[in-house]
Amino acid sequence: MTQVAFIGLGNMGGPMAANLVKAGHQVTAFDLVRSALDGFVAAGGVAATSALEAINGAQVVISMLPAGKHVAALYLGEDGLLGALTKGSLVIDSSTIDVETARRVGHAAAELGIDFVDAPVSGGTAGAQAGTLSFIVGGDQVCFDRAQPILQCMGKNIFHAGAAGAGQIAKMCNNMLLSVLMAGTAEALQMGVENGLDPKVLSDIMVKSSGRNWALEIYNPVPGVMAGTPASNNYQGGFMVDLMNKDLGLALGAAQASGSAVPMGQQASQLFNAHGEAGHGSLDFSSIYQHYSNKKA
Ligand code: NAD
Repeated sequence: MTQVAFIGLGNMGGPMAANLVKAGHQVTAFDLVRSALDGFVAAGGVAATSALEAINGAQVVISMLPAGKHVAALYLGEDGLLGALTKGSLVIDSSTIDVETARRVGHAAAELGIDFVDAPVSGGTAGAQAGTLSFIVGGDQVCFDRAQPILQCMGKNIFHAGAAGAGQIAKMCNNMLLSVLMAGTAEALQMGVENGLDPKVLSDIMVKSSGRNWALEIYNPVPGVMAGTPASNNYQGGFMVDLMNKDLGLALGAAQASGSAVPMGQQASQLFNAHGEAGHGSLDFSSIYQHYSNKKA
């Protein structure tokens, strides 16, 4: 049993922290929202009145916060948690944030003798609840080895991407590619439909041809083509357009910092931004298909 502090009990953090409790760890959590803390207490956890109180006695700190500015404010600066943690503690930040902040927190932790990994997740709220998330981890081998048994209580696949910050980079690369694949798949299917094809027949053809990809095979964006997808459920559930736009913003920022050419990522970002701004931000990202069909109308 490990004493864990968990900061940020939102849509993802709440069920992740509950899974740690289920696995037998002693978890004390803090969130700015009272109802999130109440839910965690009902799941068998302990609620703290501040992040500082939550880390009292903790060997491991996990954070699951919205963005880099929240993570920087939590750990860095005079009142930051790094200054209050004992040497030898382990910090796991699972938020999806910019690489620069992840590296900054990682370096500051290392200087204080605190182990750090960035460990953003893939798998959404369903994966958080089921304990089947994928963790994409950045940090040195010793930190990764220490984090692994804790992460296994909340996830199924634990990948070591490289040094601190590499988890964020790998996640951005994946989600940028996913946005391109989804937009391209929606575009091809819409063109087929406009030329008289049945989208199910076209999907069956392309799935066995060289256009085959995850969006087409597992997550078809056309309503009614595949059972159990968000597209067949009015684009409810799944991965929100707003979250894809957040991740694309992070990816383009990282590309700019490294001078990488990402014309496809830029194009996908423009499409998903326009789709979100048209009022579809809370729909699943496969609803980009509507962006093409609405254009036609
Ligand atoms: P959320 O907004 O539901 O939860 C964030 C929580 O952090 C909120 O409860 C908020 O009150 C709390 N919080 C903010 N600042 C705080 C502070 N200083 N101290 C304590 N608590 C604080 O967000 P989420 O959906 O749980 O996502 C968390 C992270 O995971 C984000 O970086 C997101 O991009 C990433 N992510 C989300 C999904 C998803 O499907 N929701 C999937 C993969 C990754």
